[in-house]
This record gives sequence, C-alpha cells and structure tokens, in this order.
Amino acid sequence: MSVRETGFLCVALAGLLGPACGDLLAQGRVPPDALVIAHGQVIDGTCSDPISDGIVVIRGQRIIAVGEADAFEISPEVETIDATGMTVLPGIIDAHVHTTASPTIRRQFLEAGVTAVCDAGSPLRDLPRFEQDRLDDMPVARGLSAGPIMTAPGGLPDAVLRQNLNYEVGTPDEAREGVLDLVDRGVDFLKVYLHPRHRQTAYPMLVGETLAALVNAAHERGVVVRTHTTELEVLERALDANVDVIDHVPKPPLGRVTLASMLASSEDPLADLREHVLAPEYEVLLPRLIENGVVLVPTLGADLARFRGGSPDEAPFMAVISEGILEIVRRFHTKGGAIARGTDYNADSGGPPGMPLIEMKRLLEAGLTTAEVLQAGTQRAAYVCGQGAELGTLEPGMLADVIVVDGDPIEDIEALGRVVAVVKNGEIAFSQPER
Ligand SMILES: [Zn+2]
Repeated sequence: MSVRETGFLCVALAGLLGPACGDLLAQGRVPPDALVIAHGQVIDGTCSDPISDGIVVIRGQRIIAVGEADAFEISPEVETIDATGMTVLPGIIDAHVHTTASPTIRRQFLEAGVTAVCDAGSPLRDLPRFEQDRLDDMPVARGLSAGPIMTAPGGLPDAVLRQNLNYEVGTPDEAREGVLDLVDRGVDFLKVYLHPRHRQTAYPMLVGETLAALVNAAHERGVVVRTHTTELEVLERALDANVDVIDHVPKPPLGRVTLASMLASSEDPLADLREHVLAPEYEVLLPRLIENGVVLVPTLGADLARFRGGSPDEAPFMAVISEGILEIVRRFHTKGGAIARGTDYNADSGGPPGMPLIEMKRLLEAGLTTAEVLQAGTQRAAYVCGQGAELGTLEPGMLADVIVVDGDPIEDIEALGRVVAVVKNGEIAFSQPER
C-alpha cells in the first residue's frame, strides 16, 4: 500500500489546505505546521488491513493524509508523536451512554481513549451542556446527544422513571414538529422509546402513522433515528417504520412471571427456555433487519449482566438466557448484520467512565473478529451517532480524533486499555508523561 488517496486528497481538500500545502503533500512532504503520528501500526477503523509502519498527518482539526511512513518526508520542525511499537486508531466512540452531560465525566472518558460519547437520552435542559468541550481549559470527549427521548404522551420511560427524559408527541403533525424542534436545538441523532410495558402494566407507545411521520421528518433532515427496542414483539413496528438503528437486543418476554408460568408445567425446563429465548420470529426478523441496513447496538455488557449471577437455583436458567442473547447477536452478525458498540454506561449505576473493554470482549464472544469489534466502536459507532461523515475513521478529510495505544489490539484487545496519547480535534488532549 502506498500513500492513500493522495491524488484525491489534493482535489478534495484544496480549499482546506491551500494549493501550497496540497503540492507539498503530493510530493510526500509534510507541511511544517502539521501534527504527525508516525511509525505505529495504523488501523483506520474501516476493517481494511492495518498499515504496519504507518503515518497519520493532521493539520488544524482534520486528518490530511494516512499512509506508509516511508512515503513521507518529515522535516525536524514538524511536531511528531513517535508511535514505534504502538497502534494508531480512530478515537473510540461509546455509541450508547447516559448521564454524560457533565464535562468532568467526559474528561475521564477522553483520558481513557474514548474521544466521543453518544448520550441516548437526557433531559432537554441538559442539551446545551453537551456543547461544552473543555474543562479547566482541558479538552473533554465530544458529547453527542439525542437530547430527550421521543415517546407517546404518558409513555415510558418517564411513566416509570420520572427523570424528565420524555419528549412526547401524540400525532403525526406533532411528531414532525418535534423532530424539527430537536434538530434545530442541535441534537446529533434521535432516540425513540418503543417499550410496551413495565412489569405487567401497559403504557402508550409511538406506533403507526405517528412513528412513520417522525422517521420521515428525521430522514428529510438527514438525521439518524434509533429505537430503544428490548422487546421482540415491537421489533416489527420499528422495521415497518424504517428506523435506522436498534438499540439493545430485542428479546421474547423474559420477566419472572412469564418465565415461572412457562416453566411450571415443563418436563425439560432448560430446553424449553432455550427454545423460548431463540424464538422462531428471529428467522424472519433478523434477515429483514439486515436487508433494511439496520445497525444493531446490542449493549451486551448491560444486557448479559442482568441475566448472569442470581441465586444458585436461578443460575442455570440465567445462563441459558445469557447464552441465548449472545446467540441472537451471533446469528445477526453471521448473516451479515452491522453492529455498533455501545455500553449503556450510566454514572448512577455503572463503574467509572473508561475504555469499554468488557463490551468489546462480549462482542468477541458473539463471534466478531477483533477488527470488526474495533470497527463497531469507531466507524459504525460514528454512524449511529449521526457523525459518520466526520468521525470514526482515519481518512483524509475526517476530524482528527486519534488515539495511540501500547501494543497491538488485533492480537490482544487489552492493548486498548494502555492508552499512550489522545488527539481530539487535532489537538493533543492527553499523553503519558514519559512520552
Ligand atoms: Zn440506554
């Protein structure tokens, strides 16, 4: 592989670089005011082969070149990060988090190599806080946000949670106006709550024409629509409405009451439970998801945690459910479905903000290759957060969110826990003191 797309680069970025800079790059010379990360293995986030001795050239906020290091001449005055023995990747994106309006939390994410988080539901009043991109003059992870969650009047999640998360629309007109309102307020994507009941109580849900009007209005503005869909029974509605992304793994009813009544009369309860979890509906719905180009954000770590552990009596049943959820994701992936990685991080109930290694390992368990896991947390994550044209890959023209980690994450995913340097928006945001 030689200098990647240098010819294209000079044309496409002529306005950004000015002719002199474009000429320099075409000759393999790095402009003097660039920031360079050189001699590391470069993984660009698209699942293409790594470059073993690569270079990423950054100027201003953007990447201007990616290629093999020996194709470029770097003069001594150019600011350079030597990444020998290390791996250079797009900044990791957590595509599904909550409670990240606080720049303090986002600084912690950034230091761990997570350069952007996508908040999948926050009160409307918090929306301006996501714009805050510094803390005490230090950069913080980008706060991408859905703002509040679109739902039916009186619907979940606020019908139970009561945290001012709902943005309620009751008619197709209200849905269209609501989309325009949220987009004008600067949300990065839209989140819709499709959840039929809590425990045994049913709640109103966005369906039919209202949901379709919402999705159409969003698509007219080029905005991605994601649905919280944990229940298999509503997946078809989401598909019919043409949503872009499904968050969580849609499952058959797994509540205690449901399971108890189902298993009470069973002679082989574990086998019956396995059959219940891997419902026949998936045979039709998984291919439909893939045909429609719907991306799945399985939030496996959070989902599986709910079904692991329990009392010794329950443990075998919980293990069957947990393996069943993993199997659904495995089938989706095997058939060619696209996955983006999100954790469902929540400051109120989870651990500290950081590199989502647990979620990555769950996806490896579900059969993704390491390269696919990395793509799920970079290129695909950027897409589901409404930033596919700007973030998530190391390619000329993209915003320069780049991390350097010690070792090779393709061989050992734990390398992502050893972050040596973080560049956000073209600025060195964090680096280990010894480097
Ligand atoms: Zn969530």
